Amino acid sequence: MQLTHFINGAPVAGAAALERRNPSDTRDLVATFPDADAGVVDAAVAAARAAQPAWAAASPEVRADLLEAIAATLFARSAALGELLAREEGKTRAEGTGEVLRAARIFRYFAGEAIRLHGRTLASTRPGVEVRTHHEALGVVGLITPWNFPIAIPAWKAAPALAFGNALVMKPAETAPAMAHALAGIIAECGVPAGVFNLVLGAGGAGAALAAHPGVDGVSFTGSQATGQKVVQATAARRARVQLEMGGKNPLLVLADADLDRAVAIALDGGFFQTGQRCTASSRVIVEDAIHDEFVARLAQRAAALNVGHALDPATQVGPANSEAQLARNLDYVGIATGEGGRLVCGGERLQREHPGWYMAPTLIADTDPAMRINCEEVFGPVVSTIRVHDYDEALSVANAGEFGLSAGIVTNQHDRARHFRRNVRAGMVMVNLPTAGVDYHVPFGGVRGSSHGPREQGFAAFEFYTTMKTVYEAG
Ligand code: ADP
Repeated sequence: MQLTHFINGAPVAGAAALERRNPSDTRDLVATFPDADAGVVDAAVAAARAAQPAWAAASPEVRADLLEAIAATLFARSAALGELLAREEGKTRAEGTGEVLRAARIFRYFAGEAIRLHGRTLASTRPGVEVRTHHEALGVVGLITPWNFPIAIPAWKAAPALAFGNALVMKPAETAPAMAHALAGIIAECGVPAGVFNLVLGAGGAGAALAAHPGVDGVSFTGSQATGQKVVQATAARRARVQLEMGGKNPLLVLADADLDRAVAIALDGGFFQTGQRCTASSRVIVEDAIHDEFVARLAQRAAALNVGHALDPATQVGPANSEAQLARNLDYVGIATGEGGRLVCGGERLQREHPGWYMAPTLIADTDPAMRINCEEVFGPVVSTIRVHDYDEALSVANAGEFGLSAGIVTNQHDRARHFRRNVRAGMVMVNLPTAGVDYHVPFGGVRGSSHGPREQGFAAFEFYTTMKTVYEAG
């Protein structure tokens, strides 16, 4: 499959500079695609600028109808798109299809939000004067997306952008471009006017050109901290609006009173499903001493029994790493953690399967110290560490260490502890008796400290980034 950019309502071809291979079987070439240079990004931004005023001026019903049509098309094609997602990204077919359905539901949700957008009327301090606030489209937005949710994240940025009257230029990750490309095709097919949705494919340079473009009023980015820092610098230079989601090192506390089977199931899901490639993954499990050894033994047993294999094999529970570089990084962190004194309990190695792919055994490293690199840096793979603590107070202070603050979880039956945790943990999302990963699609998403910057994404909060407020004073 040869992918193209998508600018001003038409595919724009370029030299097939980059390729994407199936991580489950690297003999399978999924896509070749061009690498946008500054000229391509310029053309996409110009198309968006030209199209945006009419799009914002259209009835919200027009935008709602189009978003609903996009949702319906995604629902109808979820099986084929889910298969492509699994083939391209490496998560299992069930996970891939589930993600396409999530993208469909996000578009359906924002179809409703398009017509719900509202302002306020306030009493003026001056008699005879009325004061109102309106929310208007921000303008042209640049959306830079990662590979781990290659259709859900494009959907949760594009759907509110479109709903509230913005035009956009999207730059998807270079290791999962086919899903964003498929989404661009569906959006055009449903009749979104030319120039409102533009797609530029390519590597980091294309993202950098988009973030720095003077015609872009706001940039919403999801990816690594290092790149997020560059994006914030590029946008701050011209005072453009910016929203960053940059991952986590999410703590899961397991208290001594917890039901062990439940705690193990929660840690297994949060740590290893989707190959641990979720920014909300439960990668740091903090366990009270009284149950630590039993918990680690049971989690290791369940992790070692997970079926790692080809994403399209129905028996597979955990797919491969997304890329060779990601696999190498995962393996590096095993060495770093054991080098600093962690105890490798299970996994830790690359797996060979009948297809050549980037497979890794689910890995558990126990007896780690909160200050070790494995507990401070995001790995983004099926690698979970455990930290032994004496009591809840120590667990909370360990949970609050480090520079991230995306999601945090606790497994306990003590309501007072759960309440204290919910109030005192430094995280944007708190999960009680649930994995740190696995969020609803209709509520705000985001973190604190090094995990996020700018307004929240998704749900009722999404309008904050994608609109700007106007205060109107009117005398009769
Ligand atoms: P990851 O490590 O998860 O791949 P990155 O932050 O490298 O995360 O990538 C997330 C997105 O940011 C991708 O679409 C990538 O191409 C893009 N990107 C990479 N470098 C830059 C940059 N300097 N400016 C803007 N976007 C970039």
